[in-house]
Amino acid sequence: MEKFTFTSFRQQFPILEDLINGHALVYFDNAATTQKPICVIDSYQNYYQLNNANVHRASHALSARATLAFENVRGKVRTFINANTNKEIIWTKGSTESINLVAQSWGRSTLQVNDEIVLSYSEHHANIVPWQIVAQQTGAKIKVLPLTLSGQIDVEQLESVIGERTRIVCFGHISNVIGKINPIKEIIRVARKYKALTLVDGAQAIAHLKVDVRALDCDFYVFSAHKMYGPTGVGVLYGKRELLEKMPPYQAGGEMIKAVSFEQTTFNDLPHKFEAGTPNIAGVVALGSTITFLEQQGHAALLEYETRLKQYCFDKLSTVEGLTYIVNEAPDIPVFSFTLANQHNHDVATALDSVGIAVRSGHHCAMPLMQYLHIDGCIRLSLSAYNSFEEVDFVVQQLKSIRKSML
Ligand code: PLP
Repeated sequence: MEKFTFTSFRQQFPILEDLINGHALVYFDNAATTQKPICVIDSYQNYYQLNNANVHRASHALSARATLAFENVRGKVRTFINANTNKEIIWTKGSTESINLVAQSWGRSTLQVNDEIVLSYSEHHANIVPWQIVAQQTGAKIKVLPLTLSGQIDVEQLESVIGERTRIVCFGHISNVIGKINPIKEIIRVARKYKALTLVDGAQAIAHLKVDVRALDCDFYVFSAHKMYGPTGVGVLYGKRELLEKMPPYQAGGEMIKAVSFEQTTFNDLPHKFEAGTPNIAGVVALGSTITFLEQQGHAALLEYETRLKQYCFDKLSTVEGLTYIVNEAPDIPVFSFTLANQHNHDVATALDSVGIAVRSGHHCAMPLMQYLHIDGCIRLSLSAYNSFEEVDFVVQQLKSIRKSML
């Protein structure tokens, strides 16, 4: 396959040929989930047609083939994010499950009364609620990092929140609403100073940045395949090996054991200790196809296109009268959140949908952020490398006419 060009890239996504409400689909809801290229769709069919068997369990040839395909992808993910070993790559069903795993395994076994879990105001509910639950279970407390006016975690305030009682700092690499890269190295440096662990929620970063977990030096990094052109139902928990070794299992059942009797169970080695039951084999194999696809595109060319598209969209949206961005700076990835004066967010989203434009409106699973910004919701356009400059022109034209029609 050739390297990234807009036309050849877009052609790989059959759903983009669809009509919605009689109009060509303009898919601007990529932060919720991206569309899938044909090679990922084909990968499912091929897996079930040619290789389907349960993994790790049988001595027959088909099972060996399925296991090889499945485990190969673990190695691909390790290389993709530059982890040290395959043992540090745990399959989950998404970022949400990865965070729950850390909260219930590490958190529940480690946290004590008055220990502190530090989050930020811009977290997705997936990086809040699991910590609230483990805080209730253990007596730990939650503290929250404030943001700057541009929507990033405020480095000036780090040491007023992170301190001697902090056990873990959990924050998004990029917020799904604000689209700015957080000062990750600085946060990790301060967390280390107080011997606290760090968990980075990479759900929104993984499709847009080259992630190198060793360079970041975070303790945990989580992401979902479906936000990087891959399948739903597959996620990754990266964790440093020495931490994962010490953590108790999250769920129990087949595959995560070495030996079971009614008296005692010996748990399996990493990474299987955290993978109870039959995994999403076809999904993992399809994630492998996704990574191959992205590597063939060439990350630099794809990101260069996205950067141009992002700037164009920011400038064009800024020309819509009555449009107020929720933070006053261009985002680092093509995620644009705003309100339109005198319009209800849902009405705007519905009006756009009537001409085939898919956007999000509401709280975006970030209610504490909405409260922090004193808004009850916003409209979010999230773009991807298969979106065109013409689509941006079209949405801007529609927003202008919605605005006019309501005056
Ligand atoms: N974290 C962030 C920043 C997200 O944007 C999302 C999904 O939108 C999640 C976590 C949860 O991801 P998933 O639903 O794939 O588990």
